[in-house]
Amino acid sequence: MMINSVLGPLSPEQMGKTLVHDHFNFAYPGYPADLSIAPYDYNVERGRCLEMCDTLNEIGIKTVMDPTPCDAHGRNPELYAEVSQKSGINIILCTGLLNEHDGAPQYWITMYGKDISKMITDLFIKEISEGILQTGIKAGFIKVGCSSALTDYEKSVHIAAVNAQKATGVPIITHTDERSGVEQAEFLLSLGADPKKIMIGHVNSVNDVNYHRAILQKGTSIAFDRMGLAAVFDFTEEDNCRNVAQLIKEGFVKKIMLSQDTVLSLGRDRFADLNEEWSNAFKNSKIDFICREAIPMLKAEGVTDQQINTMFIDNPKNLFLGV
Ligand SMILES: [Zn+2]
Repeated sequence: MMINSVLGPLSPEQMGKTLVHDHFNFAYPGYPADLSIAPYDYNVERGRCLEMCDTLNEIGIKTVMDPTPCDAHGRNPELYAEVSQKSGINIILCTGLLNEHDGAPQYWITMYGKDISKMITDLFIKEISEGILQTGIKAGFIKVGCSSALTDYEKSVHIAAVNAQKATGVPIITHTDERSGVEQAEFLLSLGADPKKIMIGHVNSVNDVNYHRAILQKGTSIAFDRMGLAAVFDFTEEDNCRNVAQLIKEGFVKKIMLSQDTVLSLGRDRFADLNEEWSNAFKNSKIDFICREAIPMLKAEGVTDQQINTMFIDNPKNLFLGV
């Protein structure tokens, strides 16, 4: 089994230490409206992406799964092929759609009377099996998003994701709001998705190990993929690390993955001139936060090097292999 990376087929064995949810370029729908003030410059963005890869190389990350879906902006397969070639970092892109309120559902919602699940299934399968846009560069996984409860539109997208998984065998990773991970896992599984190839994301938007465990008990993996963002959700990184350590003690080490949900924002700089409250909230949002700061905290909670490697190396690989 081979994974679709931006440079072509990648063996799961070559993934190494993997960030399962960090973005290179990203902007929400609506960004093109601001292009007169904040134009897109390929060379500037290439420089920012290469700089991020320099840091990744310093800290030993080999692979980044970039979950920027079709209706967000920034997913540029040719740019990432160039960046991957130059830096040696493996980059795996996704097909998929954002949740309804963050995304751009209107195009689909106004396909009056049509089966939009079928239409979206065709899009996902095309991007996985033939390539994204006209680049021939293929998506390696599917990303779906869920609001605090699944909307009808989001259900159509989830149905399409499961259909595309059945046709292609790729993993599904997710966005959740608040505590929607349980409902989302149940819905995906009710459609016949492979639990070994599902990773429910953003579980650490909530500081409650009972919530995390409730998803794990459905049989899917979960991602603590907002390491560094705890302050945004009014708790601490120590809480994050304590929750991970607790779930490991309960035997879930093979079902937990780690990432940071960082973005290289397109458009006007969202992080410029933050007031004190926001600059504190985002101060740990950085691509090397786990490796430089969270790992020592995890170790202080009793997590071993071997368990860290399981979460960072084995689990992402097994998500693709379905074992
Ligand atoms: Zn994200």
